[in-house]
Amino acid sequence: MNKKVAIVGAGPGGLTAGVILSSKGYSVDIYEKQDCIGGRNSSFDMAGFKFDLGPTFLMMKFVLEEIFQIAGRNIEDYLEIREIDPLYRLVLPGGQEFYPTRDTLKMKSEMDKHFPGAFERYEEFLVEEKKKFDVLIPCLQIPYDSFADFFKGRFIKALPRLDAHKSLFDHLGRYFDDEILRLAFTFQAKYLGMSPWECPGTFSIISYIEHGGGIYHPIGGLNQISKAMARIIEENGGNIHLSSPIEEIEVNGKRAQGLRLQDGETVNADYIVLNADFSHAMKHLVSEDFRPKYTDKKLEGKRYSCSTFMLYLGIEGSYSELPHHNILFANDYRSNIEDISKRYEVSDDPSIYVQNASVTDTTLAPEGKSSIYILVPVPNNNSDFDWESGKEKFRDKVIKIVEERGGFKDLGKRIVEERIITPFDWENEKSVYKGATFNLAHNIAQMLVFRPHNRFEEFANCYLVGGGTHPGSGLPTIYESGKISSRLIIEDGGEKAGF
Ligand SMILES: Cc1cc2nc3c(=O)[nH]c(=O)nc-3n(C[C@H](O)[C@H](O)[C@H](O)COP(=O)(O)OP(=O)(O)OC[C@H]3O[C@@H](n4cnc5c(N)ncnc54)[C@H](O)[C@@H]3O)c2cc1C
Repeated sequence: MNKKVAIVGAGPGGLTAGVILSSKGYSVDIYEKQDCIGGRNSSFDMAGFKFDLGPTFLMMKFVLEEIFQIAGRNIEDYLEIREIDPLYRLVLPGGQEFYPTRDTLKMKSEMDKHFPGAFERYEEFLVEEKKKFDVLIPCLQIPYDSFADFFKGRFIKALPRLDAHKSLFDHLGRYFDDEILRLAFTFQAKYLGMSPWECPGTFSIISYIEHGGGIYHPIGGLNQISKAMARIIEENGGNIHLSSPIEEIEVNGKRAQGLRLQDGETVNADYIVLNADFSHAMKHLVSEDFRPKYTDKKLEGKRYSCSTFMLYLGIEGSYSELPHHNILFANDYRSNIEDISKRYEVSDDPSIYVQNASVTDTTLAPEGKSSIYILVPVPNNNSDFDWESGKEKFRDKVIKIVEERGGFKDLGKRIVEERIITPFDWENEKSVYKGATFNLAHNIAQMLVFRPHNRFEEFANCYLVGGGTHPGSGLPTIYESGKISSRLIIEDGGEKAGF
């Protein structure tokens, strides 16, 4: 009989494990609390306007392609993926507009226009950071169960290139003296919910990944990836149970033996895969007796990413002259970052990301209209800011900045549909601990062996996937977590994984 796998959560991590294990002959059941697939990578619809709830940048497309290959599928049969170029429009502090692109000639002319003399250093950045990428990525594809794993060949080889002893911002000083230009290659720390002045220099690979490998958009939005994965699981005979919240992971002695649903039903399984946000799941789904390393107090003491204030707008007409991705920097970017990660205050001068995806993808809005997605990094719920009373005023401020600094003229007047999500909503409605949308922070003390292990260390038979676990937050690493845990399950069962 096929071995039974029960997965808690149909986010990208749980779905990846579901795709691989169901393709390898395991009997897969996924239990999802929400009434839709995808978790933070789900979609919603407002009067014909379609939105990604969370991720809008797909990078390292090859990681996703590999998951489809392992499942014996051709990704093109499921997804139509477009490259976005220029990568984004950066409205830098002071207002200059910089369009980084993968087109070498255009990039040279952009650099010459804004940062004369820096193009050669940019070419050096591409060469050097590729070397780092090539040695670091294999380190993120293996589990770190113990310190002994550090001494395996891959990690030792990568060590001289990790740059973990300096901050990302300092590391980029190796290439660029101009501090504004450095921001264009370090703001990506925000993808991890961190500050470039605190984030380890290791993560310069993210800007390399964008410039070297590109940024992609599947038609219909990134949620289509989760939907495609769900389709494969069902084609393989797996089941996804929506609106089926798990109440508790049942642990017997040192072993997880099943799940208890909120409606009282219990499910036994050979293997449990946990995809729900790690700290939320520990606190709410596992009795404290079974998690000495992750007691409520220890969870509280960990470092968490920032949160995000979200505005999803259905508007009349389009901004066809503006690109797909737009990043508006605060005028005092460093102070904005310190408000978020040190002072836990909501900035008067926030940085804002605006996605204008209708210029690439006509499926996202009714004819003659467009969908605008706005994300503002804000402190997580360690802040005492009251979003219930403060959200409307903050919304008005954000719209004004997007109109004035972002060039989205008359945006406020053109809105016909609108939804707001605050850090409180991430925590209370979407089960994200402290509303920290990008999970546990990625400081050295919470990475690799120090991050929750894929083969869970507190009790047997339980495997972790998702952004709060190794290798980390962000879709490619989350897909890797699903791959690593699937491989561990197959090998722990005495079989060869073959991937
Ligand atoms: C606003 C935002 C923007 C982002 N942008 C990007 C981006 O552009 N690119 C990128 O690579 N990454 C991005 N990310 C980060 C990351 O890729 C996503 O957050 C991703 O969806 C996280 O996947 P996950 O598998 O860790 O968890 P989730 O997507 O959170 O899935 C976990 C699932 O578990 C379910 N669950 C929780 N508790 C229970 C329970 N008791 N019973 C059953 N089910 C339960 C939840 O409902 C959820 O569906 C973004 C994140 C956010 C929030």
